[in-house]
Amino acid sequence: MVPGPDQTNPGRLVGQLQELLEFQKDWGRQFLPKSVKNQEAALPKGSLHRPYESGAALSRAIVECQNCLLARNRRQAVPGEGPQNSILMFIGEGPGFEEDQQGRPFVGPAGQLLTKMIQAINLTREEVYITNVVKCRPPENRDPFENEVEACRSFLEEEIRLVDPRILVPLGSCAAQTLTRTKKKISDLRGRILDFKNRQLIATYHPAYLLRNPGAKREAWEDLKRVRREYDGLQ
Ligand code: SF4
Repeated sequence: MVPGPDQTNPGRLVGQLQELLEFQKDWGRQFLPKSVKNQEAALPKGSLHRPYESGAALSRAIVECQNCLLARNRRQAVPGEGPQNSILMFIGEGPGFEEDQQGRPFVGPAGQLLTKMIQAINLTREEVYITNVVKCRPPENRDPFENEVEACRSFLEEEIRLVDPRILVPLGSCAAQTLTRTKKKISDLRGRILDFKNRQLIATYHPAYLLRNPGAKREAWEDLKRVRREYDGLQ
């Protein structure tokens, strides 16, 4: 996760401001925010999410959501999927190209590895809930900005409330930092069991990272075995 627009790169910052201005014009707003840090205040009015009565209602709201700039370039938003009573919830960072095309989470190469990781602990994809921190694809697969994570946070919280999993498995820094509200590296957050609102939180590496760094698979396997042990303890 990166802390908002790149203020060290004037050219990029100007581009982002122009993008923000166009977005606000779409919403009938005619001014730039006083500072780039104020982007959250620039979100459209009425963007507060509410409690949803079902997973289907939540998915509909996600598909229609326009609450941050990521809505502009997406092909489609990608709600989480899986049983509404899953014990286990895997949480990635955001949709990539394939997910944006298909409207489903973790269906590209990283998703195929995630499927194998789930199977390695004798479960199937159909038995777990899989979602992302942000539901729309960041352009060029960049990390989501902090204000985008915050705009989408209540959707993730609603998924957790409705599914009520006992074990959360954030995949990679963005998801682990979002849930723990820290800036710690994934290497500092994995390898132990943390608490998230009386649920177990067992972070591990994102499958995309594992594809680029196969040497980290051994540590990921240790994390997955920990997930399986805790899962068995809940049966
Ligand atoms: S990323 Fe989240 S908050 Fe932003 S438009 Fe998509 S669903 Fe809405």
